[in-house]
Amino acid sequence: MNSGWYILGTEVAEFEKEFSSYLGCDFPSIGVGSGTEALHLALRTLAIGPGDGVITVSHTAVATVAAVELAGAVPIFADIDPLRMTMDPSSVREIFEQWHKKKLADDRDLKIKAILPVHMYGQPADMPALSAIAKQYGVHLLEDCAQAHGADISGRRVGNWGDCAAFSFYPTKNLGGYGDGGALICSTSELREQANLLRQYGWRQRYISEVAGMNSRLDELQAALLRIRLKRLDIENDRRIQIAKMYNESLQDSCLRLPASIEGTRHVYHQYVVRTPDRDRLQTFLDQNGVTTARHYPLAAHQQPAYAQRIHHLSLQHTDSLYQELLSLPMYPGLRDDQVERICTLIRQWQP
Ligand SMILES: *Cc1c(COP(=O)(O)O)cnc(C)c1O
Repeated sequence: MNSGWYILGTEVAEFEKEFSSYLGCDFPSIGVGSGTEALHLALRTLAIGPGDGVITVSHTAVATVAAVELAGAVPIFADIDPLRMTMDPSSVREIFEQWHKKKLADDRDLKIKAILPVHMYGQPADMPALSAIAKQYGVHLLEDCAQAHGADISGRRVGNWGDCAAFSFYPTKNLGGYGDGGALICSTSELREQANLLRQYGWRQRYISEVAGMNSRLDELQAALLRIRLKRLDIENDRRIQIAKMYNESLQDSCLRLPASIEGTRHVYHQYVVRTPDRDRLQTFLDQNGVTTARHYPLAAHQQPAYAQRIHHLSLQHTDSLYQELLSLPMYPGLRDDQVERICTLIRQWQP
């Protein structure tokens, strides 16, 4: 505050470098106003807009879908793999096959330009398989990393698997600020340059708009706070993983279906989400015993009033069945061992 510099100063520039070196990216990240705007800018940077289709999932925060439409593009929903609860590569393949036969598209001029998986709850999507599909069909691959800061597949962190990736620093995320914020990751210096122009009115030189851009900037104040929080991200993710291990061990013989641990991937447990057909009763039981749980989310995107009936998709069978069953147990780095034990004891006592 004493510096008198509030927008795009040294705190933002330093944070952009520190965050990309944390992720292992070649180029500095770009600090933007929110995760939604990071996704929107990623799409615009890749020149994806009107007339273009983007394959994503319905099992996500609606922000993912909103960003595709903000860019003027058309979302197409793939189903999820019920094990990971992230985009199912075989469903994506099916969309491409059906699309070419024009079975799915009533909008015949629409061209699929990108695949946008979401690393839901901190579990990395199957990026090696999705990357192979993107190459085969010659489309871009993006990542929605808003719930997965620090997650990795074979040691390669999410944010490094596609052409562009988006992060959110909304306060509840694994790396959260004290207000809104986000970051965009680009895989080449040309893309980064383009994203950098689009972030601020297309300016390279002040007041000269080279391209038609927008305004989405991370505040200096948020960047300064995020630089401090970033130092604790690994410690906090480790604690989340430790809590997940306690839940896994204690609840393995219960009637709940627990989150999958995939060999070689680091799940960072933005949420610890269990599945049970008796979800509503379990939630009420825990609530009566002083344990607050949540549903992330009450509705899938294709069930939301704003999107229902108007988004292209094939069968979303696994997504649909998930939404009757999912429940997020308490998960945050400050949760104590004895609290986790108490929650587990309650769940083990519960009779569905
Ligand atoms: C939080 C979130 C976003 C959007 O981030 P904001 O910073 O709130 O705009 C996008 N995608 C997913 C999966 C999220 O969880």
